[in-house]
Amino acid sequence: MRSISLLTIDEMSLFDKIAAAKHKPRRDLMRAARALVVVAYQSYVDAAPDVGELDEAPLTDLQKKAMRHAFTVETQPMTALRGDLLGRISVVRCPFCGISESSTLDHYLPKEQYPEFSVYPKNLVPSCAVCNTRKRDRILIEGTNVRMFLHPCYDVVPEVAFLEVRTRMEADALSLSYRVMRPAGMALQTFQRLQSHFKQLGLADRYRRMGLEHLGGLYPALRRAYGAGEDAERVAEKLIEGAMDFEEISGPNHWLAKLYRALAANDDFCNGGFEAVRPQPQ
Ligand SMILES: [Zn+2]
Repeated sequence: MRSISLLTIDEMSLFDKIAAAKHKPRRDLMRAARALVVVAYQSYVDAAPDVGELDEAPLTDLQKKAMRHAFTVETQPMTALRGDLLGRISVVRCPFCGISESSTLDHYLPKEQYPEFSVYPKNLVPSCAVCNTRKRDRILIEGTNVRMFLHPCYDVVPEVAFLEVRTRMEADALSLSYRVMRPAGMALQTFQRLQSHFKQLGLADRYRRMGLEHLGGLYPALRRAYGAGEDAERVAEKLIEGAMDFEEISGPNHWLAKLYRALAANDDFCNGGFEAVRPQPQ
């Protein structure tokens, strides 16, 4: 989970280009909705990141359909927008999870409920297919006014440490368990949002599995650090160096930074237990 920057785009000019590229009657339906879309876009910016309780624009059913169609049946300007949003190297990795490749555009506010934001760049978040599918059409945590997911374009991921991973060596196997903790001073709503984001996107299990896979790639370096002299301290140092690299770029809650630090503090792992992550021949 991390923040990404917004693209600088003239959104109404984009809207006009998409509308012009549609055939009648959709072109006319979009143009008839234009004034309401202008108002809706402004209220999105005014409320962000707390867009979870915005009023729905009073579009007619046909206008709603035309707005969704503008996204799902792509015209050249929409395809160009998709390319601009997904083409940036900084968003190649999905900002919701930080592990998989961004291959889709997620509607932060779902287009079923908010068709007015179907082609609104600020509402289109580069996302991996796993996160996009898991997020579905949900916005708020049930029974609350707290948004269920971070908005990568607007929410700032707290700098204070909130992600934890426990590592255990049992019978020559390594087990990992990730969780989100509420640090002292963190507002309850911020914590609830982090926790639901983590839970609903299945990040505990995804980080665990990807972490074990990642460690397989790190195995040769750990083996070298350990060396013939069986230097467990050198293994721990190697892990700390790696953690610092991740932290410098991605902050203290990067899932691999957490994993490296936890393993550096695990004496059994450093003292040869890392053999557990040696990739098995296929
Ligand atoms: Zn993702």
